[in-house]
Amino acid sequence: MTSAEQISFPHRHLLGIEGLKSDEITLLLDRAEGYVDQNRQADKKRSLLRGRTIINLFFENSTRTRTSFELAGKRLGGDVINMSVAASSIKKGETLIDTAMTLTAMHPDVLIVRHPESGAVRLLAEKVDCAVINAGDGSHEHPTQAILDALTIRRRKGKLAGLEVAICGDVLHSRVARSNIALLNTMGARVRVVAPRTLLPAEIGRLGVEVFHNMADGLKGADIVMMLRLQTERMHGSFVPSIREYFHFFGLDYAKLAAAKPDAMVMHPGPMNRGIEIDTVLADDIDRSMIRQQVEMGVAVRMACLDVLTRDLGNGPPIQ
Ligand code: ASP
Repeated sequence: MTSAEQISFPHRHLLGIEGLKSDEITLLLDRAEGYVDQNRQADKKRSLLRGRTIINLFFENSTRTRTSFELAGKRLGGDVINMSVAASSIKKGETLIDTAMTLTAMHPDVLIVRHPESGAVRLLAEKVDCAVINAGDGSHEHPTQAILDALTIRRRKGKLAGLEVAICGDVLHSRVARSNIALLNTMGARVRVVAPRTLLPAEIGRLGVEVFHNMADGLKGADIVMMLRLQTERMHGSFVPSIREYFHFFGLDYAKLAAAKPDAMVMHPGPMNRGIEIDTVLADDIDRSMIRQQVEMGVAVRMACLDVLTRDLGNGPPIQ
C-alpha cells in the first residue's frame, strides 16, 4: 500500500456508506479487485492478518454475510470467532454494552456486528477500542453489501458513473437500499426506486432518487435492476395486499425486464424469495442475473475492508 492510499482511508470503523468519499470507496473497490484474483487461485491464504483476532458478533440471522466475513478473515490469515446471540435474549442497550465490555477484555482487533436495531452498531463502536464493521443494523445500513454490489456492477459495466440503477421492492425495510443509494449517488450513478407507496420510507424525497410506483416506468432504460427481498420479519401489519398480487405488479420477470436496456443486468442481495420478488428462472439465468457474482465479490470486498481497517490507519474520526 502506498502512502497516498494510507491517507485516503482515515476511518477507524466502517459503520456506513454515508460519509465515505468517492476516492475512499474506489480505494476499497480497487483493493478488492486484487482479492478476487487471489480467491480464484488454489492457494487462497495470505498472512496479512496473522496474529489478529476477528469476532463475528451476530444478533440477527445471516448466512452469506457471516460466512463471507469468516472466509475473508481466514484467507487473510486471521483468527476468526463466530458468536451468535439469539435475538430473543437481547435486552436492548444493556446487553449490547455488556457484550461490548466483555469482548473488549478479550482484545479483538476487529468486531463485525449485525444487529436488528438501527444505530446499535454505532453505539457498540463507541464502547470498544477496536475497529468495528457494520454487517447490517436494522433498516439503516449494510455498507459491505453496497460495496460488493458496486464491485459487481463495475466489473460488468466498466464504470459506475452515469449508470441508471433501479432499486425495486421493499425499500422501506431495506438497509441494502439505503447503503446502495448512498454509494451510487456518491459515485455518480443515477438511482430510481420502484415500489408501492406502502414500501417507501417517509424520507425518500431526501435521498436523491427518482421515485416510481410501477415497474414499466421505473425500469425504462435501466442498466441495472436491483431487486430487494420483501422483509416480512420487519413488518408489523400488512404492507402488501397479497403475495400473488405483489409478484404480479412488482415481481421481476422477463416481461417486466424488457422495459430496461437490452443488456440490463439483474441483482439481488439474497436471501431470495423466489416467485415473490423475482421469477425463479430469471434469478438463475447467467446471461441476465449477477446474483452469484455478488456472492463471490462479497468475500473479496470483506477482505479489502479487513485489510484497510487493520493497517493501523484507524486514527481518523468514525465514518458517520
Ligand atoms: N441479506 C441482506 C440484509 O441482511 C438483505 C436481506 O436480508 O434481504 O439486509
